[in-house]
Amino acid sequence: MRPLLFPFVVRGNLRRYFNGTSPQRRKIWPFWLVAGSAVAVSVSYYLRERQTNCELSPEHFTPYRISYKKNVDSTHFLMELTPLQEQRINMWAKMRSDHLWSIEIKQPDVMVVRSYTPLPLHVEKESGQLKLLPDGENAGGVFLLYLKKYGNGEVARWLNGLPEGHVIEVSGPFVEYELPVYEEEASRNRDLFFDDKIRPEEKFKYKPIDIAMFTAGTGIASALQILLTESPLRGKMLLCYSCGTIEELGPLKPFLNQLEKHGRIDLHVFESSKQPNRSKRLKEIWEVMPTPSKYSGLVPFQNSPGGFHPVLSLVCGPERYISSLAGPKINLTQGPIDGLLKHKGWSRENVYKLS
Ligand SMILES: Cc1cc2nc3c(=O)[nH]c(=O)nc-3n(C[C@H](O)[C@H](O)[C@H](O)COP(=O)(O)OP(=O)(O)OC[C@H]3O[C@@H](n4cnc5c(N)ncnc54)[C@H](O)[C@@H]3O)c2cc1C
Repeated sequence: MRPLLFPFVVRGNLRRYFNGTSPQRRKIWPFWLVAGSAVAVSVSYYLRERQTNCELSPEHFTPYRISYKKNVDSTHFLMELTPLQEQRINMWAKMRSDHLWSIEIKQPDVMVVRSYTPLPLHVEKESGQLKLLPDGENAGGVFLLYLKKYGNGEVARWLNGLPEGHVIEVSGPFVEYELPVYEEEASRNRDLFFDDKIRPEEKFKYKPIDIAMFTAGTGIASALQILLTESPLRGKMLLCYSCGTIEELGPLKPFLNQLEKHGRIDLHVFESSKQPNRSKRLKEIWEVMPTPSKYSGLVPFQNSPGGFHPVLSLVCGPERYISSLAGPKINLTQGPIDGLLKHKGWSRENVYKLS
């Protein structure tokens, strides 16, 4: 029974009952009341279930429309995804920078899924520019992906060939890594993305942690998520980014520039187009690679603590890159720490290899 019809049906039956029907008819009104209530409960359950199933979840796939797609170069591209049903949960406020998370996209023909790293950006309709979602806003659940297609790859190549307006299936969030959560800690603002004023140093309750992040290719999306999301990383990040050329980032590049200008990151870019020799590029990374600092837990915040004291190194990129920097991952497990980081004194305690 359709929900709108329900009140009329009940009202009609009650009217007939009270308008002096036979005692036999009078007996059946409790039946209608019970049946009506059951239908009402089922309808409201169905509507609630339908809304729940439209929320992004690791348990099922949710339909998203490709609302924007732009090639940066012959292999890199940006894709904005908008859920068909507005999302009630603001993932950026929920996950913050304490949770590095990804989503999965299903390729329906070969029934495989691949993981991707959403960014809290959307495309402004009038200007076509990328804009950061302000605190408390999720724009109905829109997010942006930075993607690379591979010649013989299944999913990214398929995604690149889809037109705007096409609907794809997405599940998530899947938490890839959790940074220490400091309860009752103040959020860091993201004002630098909305105007260019230089502001006084922010104050926090506890000493923020500094991290070093080594990324290659689209692995930069993981660093960008931590830096751009609501309540972004409070400490400083040393960001080493290996790529063919920085231009591969397209319109994401100004976000890195702004973060660097405002002292949130210390950026080092290693472009294979400028230094084709791999060993020399690794040597350049080695030269800027810091040694680890000890994690001191919850220490009250002091103004201008001075210096960069990384307590964690995150490594994200293709297998060969991860291997050279931190030793290979073994069957999707972390494997032993080796490579450049080991030789700088880093260990399993303070290095995490992302995928
Ligand atoms: C948590 C997580 C987050 C991710 N986030 C992103 C993201 O934001 N953007 C993004 O573009 N990708 C991201 N990836 C990688 C993504 O999941 C896929 O692996 C990638 O799109 C390739 O899938 P494919 O089906 O196109 O290629 P596949 O069919 O899996 O691979 C075919 C061939 O392509 C080549 N290839 C595939 N992946 C790589 C690689 N990483 N480096 C070098 N060669 C490769 C290899 O030759 C491989 O044999 C992420 C992965 C994980 C686990």
